[in-house]
Amino acid sequence: MSTEEILKEVAAEVSTCTKCDLCKGRTKAVPGEGNPYARVMFIGEGPGFHEDRQGRPFVGPAGQFLEELLASINLKRADVFITNVVKCRPPGNRDPLPAEINACNNYLERQIAAINPQVIVTLGRFSMAKFFGGEKISTIHGRARKIDGRICIAMYHPAAGLHQQSLKDTIRSDFKKIPQVIAEAESQSEEGQMKTESFKTKEEPPEQLALF
Ligand code: URA
Ligand code: SF4
Repeated sequence: MSTEEILKEVAAEVSTCTKCDLCKGRTKAVPGEGNPYARVMFIGEGPGFHEDRQGRPFVGPAGQFLEELLASINLKRADVFITNVVKCRPPGNRDPLPAEINACNNYLERQIAAINPQVIVTLGRFSMAKFFGGEKISTIHGRARKIDGRICIAMYHPAAGLHQQSLKDTIRSDFKKIPQVIAEAESQSEEGQMKTESFKTKEEPPEQLALF
């Protein structure tokens, strides 16, 4: 199946999914959207009021800020892929429960595998926990780390910046690091291809990321 076909299949399953209780309160499920060939994938927490109505991720105030952040690094929504750890709105925007995140994880895994982005940006603590375990956002925000062959960067959730000017500034400056991380990811994947092509077998020490 092509990447588009897999993404469509996931979206179709999500739209009728009853694997956790979040299905009971949803208006529309929000599978995620964007460029199937995106180099960068953004993973938020879960749909809010506006997302639940429209079936699209990050279309409320946090989404407006996310679009501004993307524009600041010359990216548009259509260049990237945007999704969430849970695809249905938690009632009253409460935190998603571990069982709900688990139930929904397979959709996210399939999206990541299909798109195969070089860079994953986590937005908020629930997507951060998936990639960075028990780390603290206040320590690791804006830092790049290689995980499973991709570069992951944890960011504060854009909604957090809406209520606190100092966080807004931090998120803005963390975002400015993304282009350099993409460039680094690309040069590493080119190197990787060159190594494979030349059948290089010599063991090398793990690469250190300059940005970490
Ligand atoms: N917050 C999120 O985490 N995801 C959305 O899609 C919207 C707001
Ligand atoms: Fe299914 Fe995920 Fe929605 Fe739960 S949140 S019903 S697992 S799509």
